Amino acid sequence: RKEENNNKRSVDNLRSPIVCVLGHVDTGKTKILDKIRHSHVQDGEAGGITQQIGATNVPVYAIKEQSKMVKNFQGNEIKIPGLLVIDTPGHESFGNLRSRGSSNCDIAILVVDIMHGLEPQTIESIGLLKKNKTPFVVALNKVDRLYEWKSHPENDIATTLRKQKQYVLEEFREKVNGIIVQFAEQSLNVKLFHENDDPETWISMVPTSAHSGDGMGNLIALVVKTCETKLARKLAFSENLQCTVLEVKAIQGLGTTIDVVLTNGRLKYGDTIVLPGTEGPIVTHIKGLLMPQPLRELRVKNPYDKFNEIQAAYGIKILAKDMDKALAGTSLLVAYNDDEIEILKEEVQAEVSEALGSIKLKERGVFVQASTLGSLEALLEFLKQSKIPYAGISIGPVCKKDVVKASVMLEHDTQWAVILAFDVKVEREAQEIADSVGVKIFTADIIYHLFDAFMKHREDLKKQKQDEYRQIAVFPCKVQIVPNCVFKSRDPIIVGVKVETGQLRLGTPLCVPNREFLKLGIVTSMQVNHKDIEVARNPQEVCIKIEGVPGEAPKMVGRHFDETDVLVSKITRDSIDALKTWFREEMQKNDWQLTIELKKLFEII
Ligand code: GDP
Repeated sequence: RKEENNNKRSVDNLRSPIVCVLGHVDTGKTKILDKIRHSHVQDGEAGGITQQIGATNVPVYAIKEQSKMVKNFQGNEIKIPGLLVIDTPGHESFGNLRSRGSSNCDIAILVVDIMHGLEPQTIESIGLLKKNKTPFVVALNKVDRLYEWKSHPENDIATTLRKQKQYVLEEFREKVNGIIVQFAEQSLNVKLFHENDDPETWISMVPTSAHSGDGMGNLIALVVKTCETKLARKLAFSENLQCTVLEVKAIQGLGTTIDVVLTNGRLKYGDTIVLPGTEGPIVTHIKGLLMPQPLRELRVKNPYDKFNEIQAAYGIKILAKDMDKALAGTSLLVAYNDDEIEILKEEVQAEVSEALGSIKLKERGVFVQASTLGSLEALLEFLKQSKIPYAGISIGPVCKKDVVKASVMLEHDTQWAVILAFDVKVEREAQEIADSVGVKIFTADIIYHLFDAFMKHREDLKKQKQDEYRQIAVFPCKVQIVPNCVFKSRDPIIVGVKVETGQLRLGTPLCVPNREFLKLGIVTSMQVNHKDIEVARNPQEVCIKIEGVPGEAPKMVGRHFDETDVLVSKITRDSIDALKTWFREEMQKNDWQLTIELKKLFEII
């Protein structure tokens, strides 16, 4: 059937290209998407960050409307039926979602802030585009930021450029030339679109302002032109189904639905679909094919139109049974006869195993749970960058078995007995068990909030432990009595000392190694120039008060020991362990050296 279908493919019957927008954070990707979509998703996003991939159909009439000022464009009949724009997330922690978005797309808009040039994620995006061999155009965004730029969104940007003052043009040229060099360093040849007479060899750049609208028409026209020339063969409609699940979402009144991008082929009401689920492949029937009104974003609540059949390419919401266990970020297949079902089940399973199999777990670490494969990967990537280890992963709501798994960490290190639940529900029973055994569950639908909550928890836990262990922890120090500075020789001893090495802290028990490890008592006060202090280091001299060990006869300077004796902290195995576990940050290299020295002295094993 494949061959037969391909024979029918023709460049006279094109599907909409799938367009994605990439680039460094804050270059204006969301704003450019908004302009193209005439929507204002940016304002409505959780925390302003686009976290999930959405898709918008931009039909031909909208393309025409938006590009009517572009010279030599409207005359040509537009051959593609529209653009299907994937809303790629804009934040740096979404490396994986970005790569998923871009591997699915036919053409990309790479956004560069004209004032900043190429930035780390621009280069990362270029890497992805090269890897996937995705053609792209460059939007040199924020031209309105050039000093004294005059906006004329109603004109072709080439005309608008010509109308600028000489020094504005000079600054523009300077920025553009710098960016051309930066692209060359990435082995890419770029030119301004209106100076590019060989688009086969050179990548075009369009100056834009998503703010004022300058160049937006040219950008859209350039995408369309590139599709119809370079991409025509690839965009010839094919009957071979190519469909990706973007999101699984519960919608009030509709139940759990899935949002898909249908890149090729067609979906019909009643089709038997096979797709991956959290508990194995799902086989079900399409009970509804919905599309939002044109130019709206799939996720925004709005009335949907119902269809009996949809031919690629479109973003579609599918209604079907058993979708609550569906997995996003993977392929959806259609079984045309019952014999195929088993084979297709194996196929979808293999895809998931491959994705999950590449995730490496640590023996100790947090548990991570997310709603989709894509968001799970995004979260893991973020944790990796933040150096937070993860020991378990799962997709779907947090249930009892997840808590039981996480509770194993309680035996090792309580800080890891944590579930980070991203955009998923926590079942009541799971929460109850977690509360009773001491597993912490954090939920959020913004990665940063989850991260912040976890970091705060870790900090609190540490403070709590530090308070608990402050008594046990003894910081190592070696001090010498300053000549003629014995102010009180006994009960309590008050002397001036010089810290030789290590750190002398309030609360430190001191002893005299030369006098058979005579225990003097605890430092209960430390002063420099009559001011209280808590820590002293070499070469500081401090006046200290040593209160004797309760129940023991008070020790006396000049009788039990004298001014020439060295005093050291009385450390123990437990105190060393407490330092190692809870006070690492307060220890310096020479403190550890002294610890080793004292350990030998006290014959601690
Ligand atoms: P993203 O992180 O790449 O999605 O960037 P956004 O679209 O969220 O834009 C980042 C910031 O730059 C926002 O404050 C926008 O209002 C602003 N911005 C975006 N495009 C332009 C532009 O063309 N000109 C100016 N002056 N500001 C812009």
